[in-house]
Formats: sequence, C-alpha cells, structure tokens
Amino acid sequence: MSEILYEKSYKCPICNNNFSSKKVKATACRVDKRFEDFYTTYKTENPTHYEIIVCPHCAYAASENSFDNLSAKELNAIKEMLSGKVINRDFCGERTITDALDSFKLALFIAKSREAKSSIIAGLSLKLAWIYREMKDERENDFLLHALENYKTAYNTESLPLGNLDEISVQYLVGELSRRLNKYDDAVFWFNKAVSNPERRNNPRIEKMAREQWYTVKEENKKTK
Ligand SMILES: [Zn+2]
Repeated sequence: MSEILYEKSYKCPICNNNFSSKKVKATACRVDKRFEDFYTTYKTENPTHYEIIVCPHCAYAASENSFDNLSAKELNAIKEMLSGKVINRDFCGERTITDALDSFKLALFIAKSREAKSSIIAGLSLKLAWIYREMKDERENDFLLHALENYKTAYNTESLPLGNLDEISVQYLVGELSRRLNKYDDAVFWFNKAVSNPERRNNPRIEKMAREQWYTVKEENKKTK
C-alpha cells in the first residue's frame, strides 16, 4: 500500500506549526465501481480516506481546498474552539477506516464552528455517510439526511456551481439522496428538475443518470403502494 501514498507538507494556519501528512497519489488510484450518489469504491487505497488534513499539534482539520485562506473571523472562531484541547492522536500516517471516519467528524465539527457554507457542510456529511456505508453501519442514513438538508439550503442560498457540482448535478444529487432516504415524491420532484434543466445538454452523463434514477424511483414507488 505504501507505494501509492506520498508525504505532503503543510503549515497549519491556526497554530503555525509545520507538519507532513500522507496523501494518495491520484495516478495510482484504480476505481472499482461508481454509484448513483457519486460514492466510488477503489481496487486500491481509497483517496477519500486521506482527504481531510488534520494538524497533529492543534487538531485543526479541513479538506485540502478549504485548509488555508481563512478569514480573520474564521481564524478567531477556530482558535477559540480549539484552545486548550489536546488531540493525542496522529492522522498523518497510514489511516484505518476509523481514522478516516474520525478525520471527517473533526472536519465537520470545525466547519460548523467556522460557520462554513452549507455546501461545505453537505459535502463533508455526504463523505461521512459513504465511510459509514463502507463500514456497513446504518448511521450512514443520518449523514445522508444531513447532506440532503444542507444541499437544499445551499441550492437556495448559494451561487452555483457548488464546488464542482453544476446546477443539474445538484438537482440530480438532491433527487438521489431523497430516493435513498425513501422520500419518493421529493426524489421525483428533483429528478424532474434535472431532466428539464435547460443546460442538461452540457452534462449528458448527469442527464442520463437523472432519467435512469427517475425511472428507478417510479418503480420503487409502485412497489410500496
Ligand atoms: Zn495546528
């Protein structure tokens, strides 16, 4: 496994200490299967497990793209929240699935304390749900629901795209999370939005998935009636 991991250096924006942490080489990842809510399994190490960087000195945790560039307000909120806390745990080496799970819990906790955007909270919650799925733990559904609620808020209050999700992808994903949580009417509503999105030709992969899952949810709905 070790040859697909490499060391990357960071400077913590909270405590200013330097540290290095392992990451997965993107070129070494081999996808096994992609699922309808974008969950992906790998034949090799799962890069999601190493997505959250955790400072070993002060426990500050965030994904790579939101690790730096904190506003003064965020910096103060996080410093206050972490002040006097001891981590006693090192996330910088090879990670077990429990390490991966706990790194996302820390990141979610810190994202909330810095009042991160709903789209950030949603993304972290979705990945936490995926790790629970990998662990075959039914707490997956609690985090799918948390992701769903935050994606809906983000869709209504933030400018699109949300990270790498364009409008049709968000509509599709809200539909799919609703379907997984047995909210059939909501799922149909959001899949309809995706398949009638004027920009759908720009994202034929998502348009196709939305049509397929719209059909799936109709069939599931028939069975439960
Ligand atoms: Zn730190």
